[in-house]
Amino acid sequence: MDEAGTRYLARLRDGREVYLAGERIASVPDHPAFAGAARSVARLYDEVQRDERLAMRSPTSGARVSKTWLQPRNQAELADKRLALLRMAELSFGWMGRSPEHFACALAGMEMGLDVFRADNAERAASLQHYFRHLRDQDLYLSYVLVNPQADRSKAAGEQADQLVAAIVDEDAQGITIRGAKMLGTGTVLANELLIGNIAPLRADETAQAFSAAVAVGTPGVKLLSRRSYAAAASSAFDYPLSTHFDENDALVYFDDVKIPWSRVFVHRSPEMARKQFHGTPAAAMMGWHGQIRLLVKLRFLLGLARRICEANGIIGMPAVQERLGYLAAQTTMVEGLILAMEAAGESAGPYFVPSLQHLRAAHVLTQELYPQFALALRELAGGGLIMLPSDIKDFAHPEILALILKTQKSPALDSIDRVRLFKLAWDAVGSEFGSRHTQYEIFYSGASFVTRGHAFRSYPWEQATGLVDDAMRRLQPRPGSQAAPALLPSVPVATPMERADEQADGQRSGA
Ligand SMILES: Cc1cc2nc3c(=O)[nH]c(=O)nc-3n(C[C@H](O)[C@H](O)[C@H](O)COP(=O)(O)OP(=O)(O)OC[C@H]3O[C@@H](n4cnc5c(N)ncnc54)[C@H](O)[C@@H]3O)c2cc1C
Repeated sequence: MDEAGTRYLARLRDGREVYLAGERIASVPDHPAFAGAARSVARLYDEVQRDERLAMRSPTSGARVSKTWLQPRNQAELADKRLALLRMAELSFGWMGRSPEHFACALAGMEMGLDVFRADNAERAASLQHYFRHLRDQDLYLSYVLVNPQADRSKAAGEQADQLVAAIVDEDAQGITIRGAKMLGTGTVLANELLIGNIAPLRADETAQAFSAAVAVGTPGVKLLSRRSYAAAASSAFDYPLSTHFDENDALVYFDDVKIPWSRVFVHRSPEMARKQFHGTPAAAMMGWHGQIRLLVKLRFLLGLARRICEANGIIGMPAVQERLGYLAAQTTMVEGLILAMEAAGESAGPYFVPSLQHLRAAHVLTQELYPQFALALRELAGGGLIMLPSDIKDFAHPEILALILKTQKSPALDSIDRVRLFKLAWDAVGSEFGSRHTQYEIFYSGASFVTRGHAFRSYPWEQATGLVDDAMRRLQPRPGSQAAPALLPSVPVATPMERADEQADGQRSGA
């Protein structure tokens, strides 16, 4: 471990209050539930210092920090940042959804919309700007909890019993005090900082829930209730290669009267701004775009697994199998195409250049359905090989069992040990508890489907579709009794998103 990674791990030893399996964790980076994932994050910090393609200089401090803090000013910078994010995601093969670069994209996007914050409250906007610069200069790992715990979804946040949802319970000249819970802090156990917000719509009278603020994860009163650890349950890296390295953890967070100074409060008692901070600034586009880049790496990984499994089982030459793999390859390419379209059809937001929300919303809707199908296709191609496996790495140390393994684990492409390794890797990806959690993650991380489809409905430029219908009716179907001849050309020319992007790129090239 290099200096940056070591420094990151040392910061986690801050007395944070993490609960798991009936105990309070004494030291996160030293506990088997978290050590593997923490080391993966540490490696990312080291890579940023080693690989200049992943790094940039902070404009405020000059420090070398992750390029994930970049606030792109044109399409070329957006593409450059995408390549850096792809390389970072490749470090975990796409299996860490909420590693530091995700939240940095979100915070950078919020700060890119600083004018929206200023219009709401100039002091809170100044706090956000200061906080963003602080995190960027220190290259800190931020996580977020923006969703309210499930309880009674037929009731509003403020109507839940027993002060369930985190809310402001007190405030004075120093800041606010919050009490209540939020979900679902992915990566929070591993992070330095935690942003608390509310992304779902609130009623006008739910002002106590309508805030956003940030705390250091080790702040007194911040209690992290970890879900079951897949890493701690994994018997070895041989048997569970992904669980042992990339179990990024999810935790329910309870705020037990946590005092937060005004310098860390960005939205204060404003239901409208609580939502606008994400959907009215580039934040939603920047964090969603990163999510799809990371997903692309994961899909490529699963596609590679599927192909290697078909080679290992000697079925790769079968036309039906190639057809199945071709379909998975096409789905992977579609996700890549959507990411490129987000950039090509991106839009200016003040001095910044932001991925197209229309294409992002489409990607969210399609990929939350695509992922479970993809995992299922891999299982179908793999058959019983995912189960026909030695029970544990310890079997290899037993001469009699080893001899039987070598006799029975056969492949035209791999020796017995590599066959076992490949299928264990595949099982961890799609069949283990870790793999199953990832399916749940991909279905829900961007919102339930009724939410993502609502966004897609609102962000689609409907005139492109309805304009064609209206034009066809005008040109092809004279109203009864009308003498009007059908027009030869569309009466309303409609620019496609690509054409709009070209026009913007032209504007940039000419310095407009
Ligand atoms: C693995 C994982 C990690 C996560 N990490 C984070 C994180 O780091 N930070 C964070 O803030 N959040 C995180 N989340 C939370 C995530 O954002 C939510 O799961 C998501 O927004 C959906 O909300 P919900 O789970 O409360 O589902 P709900 O809103 O309760 O919906 C569940 C289902 O109920 C039905 N339903 C509910 N309401 C309606 C309605 N109005 N109309 C129609 N149907 C409805 C639908 O079938 C829906 O799919 C994570 C979730 C998962 C699963």
